[in-house]
Amino acid sequence: MQADGTNLPFADVIVIGAGVAGLVCARQLLRAGLQVLVLEKSAGLGGRMATRRVEHAGQTVPVDHGAQYLTADSDGLNRWVKELLSLGLLTEWTRSLHLLDADGLHPEDPNDEKPRYICPQGMSALAKHMATPLQVHRQTRVVSLKPLEKAWQISTDNGCVYQAASLVVAIPAPQMLPLLEEALPSTSNLLSLLGYAEYLSCIAVLAGYGEGIPLPDWKGIKCLGDPLMVWLGLDSSKRSESMPPVIVVHGGPEWSSLYLEATPSELEQAGRDLLAHAAKRVQPELATPEWMQVHRWRYSLPVETMGLASLGTRVSASDAVGLPLVCAGDWCAGGRIEGAWLSGQDAAQKLLEMLGIPLPARFGAL
Ligand SMILES: Cc1cc2nc3c(=O)[nH]c(=O)nc-3n(C[C@H](O)[C@H](O)[C@H](O)COP(=O)(O)OP(=O)(O)OC[C@H]3O[C@@H](n4cnc5c(N)ncnc54)[C@H](O)[C@@H]3O)c2cc1C
Repeated sequence: MQADGTNLPFADVIVIGAGVAGLVCARQLLRAGLQVLVLEKSAGLGGRMATRRVEHAGQTVPVDHGAQYLTADSDGLNRWVKELLSLGLLTEWTRSLHLLDADGLHPEDPNDEKPRYICPQGMSALAKHMATPLQVHRQTRVVSLKPLEKAWQISTDNGCVYQAASLVVAIPAPQMLPLLEEALPSTSNLLSLLGYAEYLSCIAVLAGYGEGIPLPDWKGIKCLGDPLMVWLGLDSSKRSESMPPVIVVHGGPEWSSLYLEATPSELEQAGRDLLAHAAKRVQPELATPEWMQVHRWRYSLPVETMGLASLGTRVSASDAVGLPLVCAGDWCAGGRIEGAWLSGQDAAQKLLEMLGIPLPARFGAL
């Protein structure tokens, strides 16, 4: 990628965020023949579709601490799921979860059963697969966006300045708002929409146990009406039926929000409290793991979604025809992997329409 009059790196499109929405969008734009660069603040790919590697039972195992599984209701995502199943990247984990409610622990209603898919290598393996053909600059946090006469100017925390003819921002709305406040007039409708988008937070606890603990007979438990705990997953059942248990517990949003600014030791205590609660409600041995890690998700799931799969506009620094800007993410189309996927597809389509570029053959396929 070379300079455009200036000596700044230049791309047809810069996509901010290498979560599901950003990666799906970038892939479709690449297929349409555009030069695309993705900027991602983290070292890893996939955003909230996240996996940690931990030492457990003498081996290094993946543990999903963000998205637990993938479901596919739309035709487009179902087609992609079939392709991933045939590549062995995805497998069906379970059709039936358990519920923990006022009646105790029991299998969910058979009418709610549906395939829940996982990656044997951890959910972030999906993101790595999606990013294969893409140019991604990692550990590159965008800190400022400016519309110039002919291009967007994008500045990052490592001191780089990029330029792009078009911009896609695929990050949670509360993180997007301060970036766009700088670039858009304060009267912009887009800014007020972003201002309404709120997220729930979530404390995730990962815990591993020794051989002695009885293997649970559930794979995942949705907890209803429990303020402390919303989910309990037997992550090790995604890897092998016989592995000593590794569980992932997700704290309820209100309880989790108490720990957003907690110190490491307070966070660790919160993790122990959550495991003690899980032990009381589900299985006593869960209180005493061999190891435990805690992760805090400030932006976990959107409270509500926009009902528009992505938002597109043109932004101008002067009277010139404005520069294309498209915003995407799970806060637009639905707070799950599927919602982020649909939003990324829609963002690519929107941008291609704005640029007058025909959609590539079999648009939607990856
Ligand atoms: C605890 C938890 C459990 C979940 N469980 C499920 C589940 O079981 N099934 C399901 O389908 N979904 C689940 N989800 C939701 C699912 O993970 C998300 O809906 C989806 O991954 C969102 O994708 P996204 O691309 O919209 O956003 P993100 O995944 O948030 O991606 C945004 C990316 O942008 C990057 N970024 C942010 N700001 C900047 C910046 N300034 N510069 C550069 N990069 C930036 C971030 O690092 C991130 O990689 C869960 C989420 C959480 C947190």
